[in-house]
Amino acid sequence: MALKKFVAGNWKMHGLSADLAEIKVIADASRQYPGVDVALCVPAILIERAARAVPGFAIGGQDVHHAEKGAHTGSVSAQMLHDAGAGLTIVGHSERRDAQRESDVEVKAKAEAALACGLGVILCVGESLAVREAGGAIETVVAQLEGSLPESAKAASLAIAYEPIWAIGTGKVPTVAEIAEMHRAIRGRLDERYGAGIRILYGGSVKGSNAAEIFGVADVDGALVGGASLKCADFIPIVAAAAAAG
Ligand code: PEP
Repeated sequence: MALKKFVAGNWKMHGLSADLAEIKVIADASRQYPGVDVALCVPAILIERAARAVPGFAIGGQDVHHAEKGAHTGSVSAQMLHDAGAGLTIVGHSERRDAQRESDVEVKAKAEAALACGLGVILCVGESLAVREAGGAIETVVAQLEGSLPESAKAASLAIAYEPIWAIGTGKVPTVAEIAEMHRAIRGRLDERYGAGIRILYGGSVKGSNAAEIFGVADVDGALVGGASLKCADFIPIVAAAAAAG
């Protein structure tokens, strides 16, 4: 049975007070597509205002600290995200795995902290271009998954985002066959571990122009969208394609 599609935007380090108006426009437009779960993961400092501006629409964070509280200057806990109005958070984005040297163990701890606080989690995995070219993409991503997955999770609160690093923000997208092969491998691990129902999102240069093709691939249950999530005019066509794919 097809899972309900999920399209989440990752605003990364974009967004000021003035952009709350765009969040409202996106939230209003996405209500036309009740068959798709839609969320925007915004900078931590915007979460509370965004959540107040669009009640009922899912606002998320982009990272969370694994500890409940304590001496972690500059970090944000799961309880803080929840308290600010977030319903979910991204963990393990490749930009953090790379720049902040986040390990699988840390990503797993973050996912568990977020789930324990009642937040949904989008857990990212993906291979570098060098790994893809050397033929090690599946093995690498499956190993990342094994190391990062929380001990337990309900289908409603966990989604995996397969994001090949070389496709993020580059305009390059894997072939349909490459996406299908990777999502099938991820599906196998998830089903073994938790049973059916965990959604697998594809991320990396998704746009209105390629979304329908990507959503047509087996085991693609939605998308994590960076650049094209900043403007309603770019993002809503992706949500519409998800709705059309069913
Ligand atoms: C992302 O940052 O998660 C992402 C997929 O970015 P983009 O859509 O811009 O490639």
